Amino acid sequence: MTAARLTRILAELEKLHGRVKASKPASPWLLILRRNCGYPASDKACAKGFAALRKEVGTTATAIAKAPQAKLARAARAGGMMPELRADRLRDIAALTLRDYGGDLRALLSRPLAEARKLLKQFPTIGDPGADMILLFTHTAPIAALPSNALQVPLRLGLGTESKAYSTSYRSAQAALAAALPETFDARIRAYTLLKEHGQEIFKPARPLCERCPVTASCAYYQTLSRLRTEQQAPCRSRSQAGSVQRADRSSSPTSSAGPGLAKK
Ligand code: SF4
Repeated sequence: MTAARLTRILAELEKLHGRVKASKPASPWLLILRRNCGYPASDKACAKGFAALRKEVGTTATAIAKAPQAKLARAARAGGMMPELRADRLRDIAALTLRDYGGDLRALLSRPLAEARKLLKQFPTIGDPGADMILLFTHTAPIAALPSNALQVPLRLGLGTESKAYSTSYRSAQAALAAALPETFDARIRAYTLLKEHGQEIFKPARPLCERCPVTASCAYYQTLSRLRTEQQAPCRSRSQAGSVQRADRSSSPTSSAGPGLAKK
């Protein structure tokens, strides 16, 4: 994808989702903690779980390490499913942070980049996408990070190629994003934030809200379905023109509703 095309896509997404302000470096501890406060890990679920944790237990490593399991699980319940498992994870995160980093994960980020990435991946739920996100949002390295649970958004918009293996798809989309964006924290945080927002608000897994999407012209999925819909309708039209009885077919066709047959997805 060219830089100009990506610029246009991000500008359209920003019109829909709002301007992304330049951010200050975030705390690696809070990013890891927050990510483990909700499941499924949407922003809303994580924010609810994090708010409950702050109120019920506190958000320091010491407070979490000392908290009784039942109290942690009660707080985790506000963030969605599997509260007991997430309570265990919060405790593990706190124990590791206290044992290896004296309660302050900023020391971890001062290591060479490959080592910092490896160390971040010791924490629960942090894989390559999570580590990239932390390295970017803490202003450690301007990595072209992509939201792990919204990878379909960049792929369908033409950033990278989808493969069977998630990690291959992720790397492909990441390389395409890196090639088309300036290597700055602001540019890459803005792209990450807009793609994530689009994934959460419009690109619903069960049924993407394409009728509200401003970038349909760049979406391979939308364009393919539109083409298929046109091809499916063509024989109907010709039969209708020939005087065949087609009314019943047309009224029951799933592609006769608004949008490119999206109810099928
Ligand atoms: S057109 Fe639909 S599938 Fe494509 S990016 Fe927009 S919401 Fe997602």
